[in-house]
Amino acid sequence: MELHILGTASARPAGARDVSGSLLSCEDGIAVIDAGEGFQIRYAQQRKRLKLHTPTGSLRAARIDVVCLTHGHLDHTWGLLPWLQTMSLDRRTRPLLIVGPTSTEVLDALTDGRAIPESAPPAELARQMQSWHSLGATSTQLGYEVRWILGDVQADSWIELDPTSQTAAQIPSLPQPQGWRHVNIVPLATTHTVPSCAWMFETKEKAGKFNRLKAAELRLTTAQQTELGQGRDITLANGESLAASSFRSAAIEPRRLVVSGDTAEQAPGIKALSAVDVIVHEATFLDDTKDHATEHLHSTATGATRTALSCGANHLVLTHFSARIKDPTVPLDEATKEDANNSLTISVAKDGDRILLGSSGQTTHLSWTGDGWAA
Ligand SMILES: [Zn+2]
Ligand SMILES: [Zn+2]
Repeated sequence: MELHILGTASARPAGARDVSGSLLSCEDGIAVIDAGEGFQIRYAQQRKRLKLHTPTGSLRAARIDVVCLTHGHLDHTWGLLPWLQTMSLDRRTRPLLIVGPTSTEVLDALTDGRAIPESAPPAELARQMQSWHSLGATSTQLGYEVRWILGDVQADSWIELDPTSQTAAQIPSLPQPQGWRHVNIVPLATTHTVPSCAWMFETKEKAGKFNRLKAAELRLTTAQQTELGQGRDITLANGESLAASSFRSAAIEPRRLVVSGDTAEQAPGIKALSAVDVIVHEATFLDDTKDHATEHLHSTATGATRTALSCGANHLVLTHFSARIKDPTVPLDEATKEDANNSLTISVAKDGDRILLGSSGQTTHLSWTGDGWAA
């Protein structure tokens, strides 16, 4: 898996940092995680960089199957509609899935055919989706199929919006992008001032390879091989028993990459995990403004470390910095000090950086230097 981080500022652009937006590329396709203002410009820029500096890298829009929104604040959503329209101009045909969090209150209202309750926050995603629909973001007007899914993540309750009738129907679970077989997309409940979630990309566990050579050497019958292959121990005619496990190499463990969105530290959905390879976590504030973090349900760099430790992460990437943070070594130092036992490796994201996660769990943070990437 490879994550491209295209925006590392918090609520507004600051210096070389732009608002949120990332792309996760894996063997199944590409997922976009948030698309703040100017997303399509930064996406085009990253494609150009890849073309110039890597022989194989590609982020073709035709491979993008899903947009995972973490919440409705505009620094995470305002770039989506113009980019959907660009893909329409580019004559996209591939279907697109758009998923995001909402509240039970909104789910209930929409499935009952009622309007979005006034008590829902202005940045409610259902409100934004409905306004995008009225501005032309429907399958008919875009020329490619778009599915609009919202859910209460904690309750694991999901609906699909119908852009033409402005109503919604309940669906049994969060749909996965069409054709994805190797990677699962999992929402994790987070804590913010509006309904929010993190997104986990998890490779599916694979059984190890069956040892055909060993089976042939023992002159096992096809039926015996099938039994062993399906995990059942067998006993031979001479009374010797053969363990199915001795015919398989070790299973390939799932790999997990989590992108947090905006959240207070120790988000319930993240804390509930016990092994994570990479967590990209917001670190909007420093310790000297930790009261701001508490008040606005954001994290500090040290809070990001505490969260990473609580979910058994190996590598923490800090992002979503307040405009007050000019020197990235400051949040890095604070985050590192909080990891007293050195259980984590920690890095700071800049716009354009790439995070590589290999199939055996090795992680590389490639920094965009302005003229290529450096490890
Ligand atoms: Zn934000
Ligand atoms: Zn936010």
